[in-house]
Amino acid sequence: MAAPILELKGIERSYREGEGRLTILKDATFSLKPGEMVALVAPSGAGKSTLLHLAGLLEAPDAGEVTIAGRACGRLSDDARTAIRRNEIGFVYQFHHLLPEFSAEENIMIPQMITGMAPAEAKQRAGQLLDYLRVGHRASHRPAELSGGEQQRVAIARAVANAPRVLLADEPTGNLDPRTAGYVFDALEALVRQSGLAALIATHNHELAARMDRVVTLDGGKVVPWKG
Ligand code: ADP
Repeated sequence: MAAPILELKGIERSYREGEGRLTILKDATFSLKPGEMVALVAPSGAGKSTLLHLAGLLEAPDAGEVTIAGRACGRLSDDARTAIRRNEIGFVYQFHHLLPEFSAEENIMIPQMITGMAPAEAKQRAGQLLDYLRVGHRASHRPAELSGGEQQRVAIARAVANAPRVLLADEPTGNLDPRTAGYVFDALEALVRQSGLAALIATHNHELAARMDRVVTLDGGKVVPWKG
């Protein structure tokens, strides 16, 4: 059996709330294997974003360990964490967060060029990804000129531009009408399945969750199988 690409062990996370603390995650444990697509379904405020941020090294747990591609990340330097985040992890958010002053293609070239890739090569990969996600004809348009579904497909292309091994998505279709959500998810699923990426996707959409390999939820600060 393949080793997990992402592992969370004994994760604790709480936030200050008035005089006390609000515990969001308590001894949370979760692992994701290469090629696995897992849905995270839980009510608003349960801690889905917190879990994704911890998994993506955007914040640090109060206790516990996040391991990515076999590397325990807790004691790494900021630079080493940034390198892992840049090379191994792709993020998709509910809102596209594309850079407004750049074209769709440039938005996908930029993360590649940050890692040192030559512009011509970055442009070629951006074009391939946009074609794969069927937005190639919109490559030269800026985000404001794209529909919501197109913006999210460009955001997905950007997330995988550096060929990460883990894709973390926080309600990637949450801002779209049901039909658009369906075809954006189709594109995301095809990409994940074809590339062998591991994906953890927070969603409120039970129909889409049911298409993934597993569904988990948060209960008492722990990650548990969804029994819905
Ligand atoms: P979800 O994504 O499931 O809606 P979140 O992870 O965003 O949940 O938030 C979980 C809880 O933690 C919420 O009650 C939220 O208000 C609180 N929270 C999240 N981030 C912070 C923060 N930086 N400081 C204080 N409280 C926070």
